[in-house]
Amino acid sequence: MKHNFCAGPAVLPQEVIEKSAQAVNDFAGTGISILSISHRSKEFQPVVDEATALIKEILSVPEGYSVLFLAGGASMEFCRVPFNFLNRKAAYLNTGVWAKKAIKEAKAFGEVIEVASSADKNYTYIPKNFEIPSDADYFHFTSNNTIYGTEIRKDPDSPVPLISDMSSDIFSRPVDVSKYSCIYGGAQKNLAPSGMAFVIVKNDALGKVERYIPTMLDYRTHIDNGSMFNTPPTFTIYAAMESLRWLKAQGGVEEMAKRAKVRADMLYSEIDRNKLFVGTAVGEDRSYMNICWVMNEEYKELEEDFLKFAQGKGMVGIKGHRSVGGFRASCYNALPEESVQALIDCMREYESKH
Ligand SMILES: *Cc1c(COP(=O)(O)O)cnc(C)c1O
Repeated sequence: MKHNFCAGPAVLPQEVIEKSAQAVNDFAGTGISILSISHRSKEFQPVVDEATALIKEILSVPEGYSVLFLAGGASMEFCRVPFNFLNRKAAYLNTGVWAKKAIKEAKAFGEVIEVASSADKNYTYIPKNFEIPSDADYFHFTSNNTIYGTEIRKDPDSPVPLISDMSSDIFSRPVDVSKYSCIYGGAQKNLAPSGMAFVIVKNDALGKVERYIPTMLDYRTHIDNGSMFNTPPTFTIYAAMESLRWLKAQGGVEEMAKRAKVRADMLYSEIDRNKLFVGTAVGEDRSYMNICWVMNEEYKELEEDFLKFAQGKGMVGIKGHRSVGGFRASCYNALPEESVQALIDCMREYESKH
């Protein structure tokens, strides 16, 4: 039995994988694969419609917002966001690699104010008490820092339009969408296979920049065409729909938040208790989705050996990102509690040998 702690592409519910596999063989009784049916067919349109409607329902998206599925992933949105929202000046919170990549793209469009940064401690905490300039076009932050295991679970107050990269914690807790002008993320962490971004955008926040926006980069193009201006990633949208159906049937984001806290509490308690290990993120900023830890200083030389031991016990994807080292267990929505327990058992067994 394998326990999938991959950071992304990541674990999906077994049911979603089985239904997607079924659709690869025969989609909606058409006798044709989802991989080869027209996105303009009468069978595919309901898939986009349902996936869009489910996101609106699950996150209680208010009137006046659009939900989009766009190829290119979260990295594409790093550029699409300033293209659509930045006139002169934008404010960004620097909490790590993904935030920095978003900042780099924005700099091509205007002035970027870095309101705060946690680079001084390798992004192991979330900066607090920073000021957002009231003349910025928007404030951008990364809600969950996948690589460092820090998370902002409270929707911040902002004097200017709020924009967030929620790639790795979307659908893991309720979000007050009405506070945001735009929420986006890559699908491959908590929603679907890779290659696609979801975008939730406030319609009347658009159309305020003076520049020409290339057709494919203009959110309005995709709003006007219901994510079907060009051929969208049809299979990924199908899997997203199945995943959203699963999420709703399980009890929605409230239930996901409960499960995420249970899993995270279990694993952080073991990291804190076990003499071999130490967590890397500051207590109050610890992510529920990506849990990072390293070997305690005096056991440093055991790192490779523990990794092999854990792999032998079926743990997949627990090697930490190269910029943090050690280990990372990504505990997304579809990760069963049993997988976390199996990892804990493995950490205890390894401890007893040393
Ligand atoms: C994975 C990730 C990205 C990059 O997503 P792509 O779809 O590969 O472009 C961006 N931001 C965060 C927070 C991520 O976790």
